[in-house]
Amino acid sequence: MLKTHNCGELRIEHVGQEITMAGWVNRRRDHGGLIFIDLRDRSGVAQVVTNPEEDPEAHETADQARNEYVLQVKGVVRARPDDMVNPSLDTGEIEVVAQELTILNPAKTPPFYIYDDQPVDEAVRMKYRYLDLRRQRMQRNIILRHRVVKYIRDFLSQRGFVEIETPILFKSTPEGARDYLVPSRVHPGKFYALPQSPQQLKQLLMVAGYERYFQIARCFRDEDQRGDRQPEFTQLDLEMSFVEREDVMALTEEMMIGLIEGFSEKKLLTKPFPRLSHDDAMNRYGTDRPDLRFGMELVDISGVVAECGFGIFSKTVAGGGVVKGIRVPGCGDYGRGQLDTLTHLAQEAGAKGLAWIALNADGETRSPFTKFLTEEETAAIIVQMEGERGDLLIFVADKPQVANTVLGTLRLEFGERLGLLDPEVLAGCWVIDFPLFEWNEDEKRWDPSHHLFTAPMPEDIPLLDSDPGAARGQQYDFVLNGIETGGGSIRIHRRDVQEKIFGLIGLDVEEAKERFGHMLEAFEYGTPPHGGIAPGIDRLVMLLIGEPNIREVIAFPKTQQAADLMAGAPSPVDPRQLEELHIRVIGKKKPKVTN
Ligand code: ASP
Repeated sequence: MLKTHNCGELRIEHVGQEITMAGWVNRRRDHGGLIFIDLRDRSGVAQVVTNPEEDPEAHETADQARNEYVLQVKGVVRARPDDMVNPSLDTGEIEVVAQELTILNPAKTPPFYIYDDQPVDEAVRMKYRYLDLRRQRMQRNIILRHRVVKYIRDFLSQRGFVEIETPILFKSTPEGARDYLVPSRVHPGKFYALPQSPQQLKQLLMVAGYERYFQIARCFRDEDQRGDRQPEFTQLDLEMSFVEREDVMALTEEMMIGLIEGFSEKKLLTKPFPRLSHDDAMNRYGTDRPDLRFGMELVDISGVVAECGFGIFSKTVAGGGVVKGIRVPGCGDYGRGQLDTLTHLAQEAGAKGLAWIALNADGETRSPFTKFLTEEETAAIIVQMEGERGDLLIFVADKPQVANTVLGTLRLEFGERLGLLDPEVLAGCWVIDFPLFEWNEDEKRWDPSHHLFTAPMPEDIPLLDSDPGAARGQQYDFVLNGIETGGGSIRIHRRDVQEKIFGLIGLDVEEAKERFGHMLEAFEYGTPPHGGIAPGIDRLVMLLIGEPNIREVIAFPKTQQAADLMAGAPSPVDPRQLEELHIRVIGKKKPKVTN
């Protein structure tokens, strides 16, 4: 090795030792006589000092060094004088007096400072990702990610899981997104699909008798890069045989708690994780991924307003809709402009309008609709809402789904505005009992709400014939701070049930055979009951560490436009390559990308 010690490990007990370090110049300070260099390697920073009288040569080299030069330093560790001790640095009690200094490699001036975490334009960070990754924050993230993955590997290995790699060049394994395709040179006109997840393969491994499988699996989904998504991302993919959903959830929960308690500085709000049925989550939080760091639950006041004089409320209830509201503490003094903005937000989320009662702190009550109500009716609403002075009560009257979604959106908006989304807390929960299907109005067919291998609840199997929309799936989602961090299910292991699902989602027998014939066939060779889950590693690490997006925990992420700015991918290819692949590019019309 070119070094005997890491910079960050030097302590007072090393005083007097002759050591060699190698690393990058974090900063260099010329104090007229002495030159100080903070030398940095992965382990941290140590101060090097050169003295022109004692070691003129080393001093001369230090004089040439600039930020990010790669240096090797031979020297002696000495204690810093008391008044020079830096308590904020692990190595702050010592310094290394350089006897020999070698420039292993000079460096151009980097486009941004490496030594501090000042915000830098993200496009610049992406272009110079190798420099961005040199910064402390990214090193911390990437190293934590490694530790998380190692924990997972150990945890599962100790519980009898086998890590098995599955192919990247495969056939479409759909999870509801577009496939990335790879043209075959050897089979003209044919394509591999990159797996959207190893779903089929892990199920086939259960057929193959491995009983407990996992993989740190890369998944590829060609989706419009809405929100915080990446075209390729990493899942902990796992599958177990002879289990019920409780078993998969219990194992995952134990692992999640271990990860949160072991790797996050945040406080875990509750364990065991609360469980909500999909209906419950929608009714109480207006979303199937509730953020439980705060309350502000949706309250149904339909019963109270069913007969009231405000037509919008009473007619909605009469027509099978609901009137629901949330109580927003501390916003009872909202003025006209703020209320208009809220109404606008509600409309953007799908509401026709927003009704409100403002209980000003000084005792005044304002509302555009209470004039249509009796005093008792208004009072009953306030009681139902548990409204207090200073509160703003907001209401949506609509179909249950719309009222829930709109209020769910506003709830989160207020969570943010009122600082209720405590960044120091992690609140996990399970959402279960999802509907098996969602109705696809455009295509006039059922879409699986999870994926097409999810088993119905056993007692709901008859509903597949009579009322598919009412059938629930054996699906479970793990949600952390309002972010879906893992989804899974117990799978269908019978060919007849699987065929029925294919039928309901509009795959005819021929198509189903062509796409999933291998699965159907496998199911006839003794398939054990099985199920699994796939927590997203990127999201999980992001949440554990408190980063705002997954790009901060991926070494080489892509932009929102699915581009790699460092290497310049995607890029045109040599026409000869295209020819070999039997491909002709017919046009370069850019698809519409929605952000
Ligand atoms: N394949 C599923 C997904 O990617 C996870 C699972 O069902 O295990 O969401």
